[in-house]
Amino acid sequence: MAKQCPHSTICLPATNLLRIVVVGAGFAGLNLIKKLRNKPVQVVLLDKNNFHQFQPLLYQVAIAGLEPDSIVSPIRKLSQGYKNLVYRMAEVVRIEPETKDVFTNIGSVRYDYLVIATGSSTNYFGLQEVEQNSVGLKDIREALNIRSWVLQNLEEAAITCDPEEKDALTNFVIVGGGPAGVELAGALAEFKRYLLHKDYPEIAQDWMKVYLIEATDRLLGGMSEKASGHALAVLKKLDVEILLNTTVNDYDGRKVLLDKGKLLPARAFVWTGGVQGTTPPGLPSASFTGNNRLIVDSYNRLEGFDNIFAVGDVAAMVSSDYPKGHPMVAPAAIQQAQLLAGNLLHYIKCGEFKKAFRYRDKGSMATIGKKNAVAEIGKFTWIGWFGWLLWSTVHIFSITGLKNKLMVGINWMMRYLTYEKANRLIIRRFKPEYASDDNGRKEPASSKASMKK
Ligand SMILES: Cc1cc2nc3c(=O)[nH]c(=O)nc-3n(C[C@H](O)[C@H](O)[C@H](O)COP(=O)(O)OP(=O)(O)OC[C@H]3O[C@@H](n4cnc5c(N)ncnc54)[C@H](O)[C@@H]3O)c2cc1C
Repeated sequence: MAKQCPHSTICLPATNLLRIVVVGAGFAGLNLIKKLRNKPVQVVLLDKNNFHQFQPLLYQVAIAGLEPDSIVSPIRKLSQGYKNLVYRMAEVVRIEPETKDVFTNIGSVRYDYLVIATGSSTNYFGLQEVEQNSVGLKDIREALNIRSWVLQNLEEAAITCDPEEKDALTNFVIVGGGPAGVELAGALAEFKRYLLHKDYPEIAQDWMKVYLIEATDRLLGGMSEKASGHALAVLKKLDVEILLNTTVNDYDGRKVLLDKGKLLPARAFVWTGGVQGTTPPGLPSASFTGNNRLIVDSYNRLEGFDNIFAVGDVAAMVSSDYPKGHPMVAPAAIQQAQLLAGNLLHYIKCGEFKKAFRYRDKGSMATIGKKNAVAEIGKFTWIGWFGWLLWSTVHIFSITGLKNKLMVGINWMMRYLTYEKANRLIIRRFKPEYASDDNGRKEPASSKASMKK
């Protein structure tokens, strides 16, 4: 029976076991609790959402290729049978290392050991108006917002007689030439090529434009030149307008201000231009890197603390091989979490850690439209259809839950045979920050003079 524990205001089962509080049920948090399952510790898992999400396929939800529930899984279902685990849907708002308390929106919990697995969030590099007026691609809500935004704009474009308005409504701008931006741009471009004329006969195909803006001189900067070149060629073939060596200075909800003062009219704008660690406040500022990741040692232990750990995207294990920490990808999160679980149990029993972390790089992949991808594992690079086959296999195996694997697999098979996407529904309207009425369209909340014509 749930009882009030001394020192914790959140109801938890009373126990004599040491308590490990895990914040975040992403790739890192979930893999950690799996390894701690039914071990002689009490595990308290806190996540602000009641689901785990499979971020690599968010872009497919955004372009209405997959339904959201095929890439999210309820945490309570995933943790069934974990006798030593308590899950609470709670957003951690502050950590107090002095008293060993974690404060959340539903109360506080006292920990013996704390594992921070809170992942990362979109980094807008201080561009406030961009942040206000655009959407990122970091969680399922944002993916659904993008879906609604695209479809809403096309509905509006179908009825407007004003060519300038039509132009802005059918321009879709994506910032960031990393995997997320490339995948979203490819998927939107295929939507334009294969579905626009069927769903929106009022909109000529040439009207719709997909822009992909990247600040450096190539796409997929984390991959080889060969992979970058392939991505560029495939996207160009799909009519994506690629602007390399171009930075975005502002976006007021109507026009994108590029460097050199160029203006690009667009009523939908997705920012995948950067990520940063996300940590609740309370830890000393010396614990953070420049992009807000927590500096940890090779046991994922936070500098200066014996009982606080960080794993996954939020952790920066700086070394000569990885001067900025490991890449913010799922395999790094999973490997760190699995090792930390064993190390923690050993530490609790014997007072020392068993093994330092060593990253096994499993390669990188990105899909560029249907049946086309780049995959790099070690020295080998696969591009095109075989790359796509590898990408699909890896992703199907990685999705949490059998039902989700089946749903995604069946969906992909159908899409492999046709270009049809099943779910082009606006279930709930997305209202960008700059729009403040139910019809969605108003003057931007704040518009810089320099951006006005
Ligand atoms: C669009 C996109 C595509 C990607 N594609 C790939 C890919 O193809 N391959 C790959 O390897 N990686 C990919 N990644 C990266 C990968 O998803 C991350 O590296 C991975 O999710 C990191 O795992 P994590 O557990 O550290 O964080 P996350 O999975 O982000 O989990 C963090 C968890 O913490 C919770 N949380 C955050 N703050 C709080 C708080 N204050 N209180 C309570 N709970 C909180 C969140 O709700 C979330 O559940 C992609 C990421 C994105 C966004």
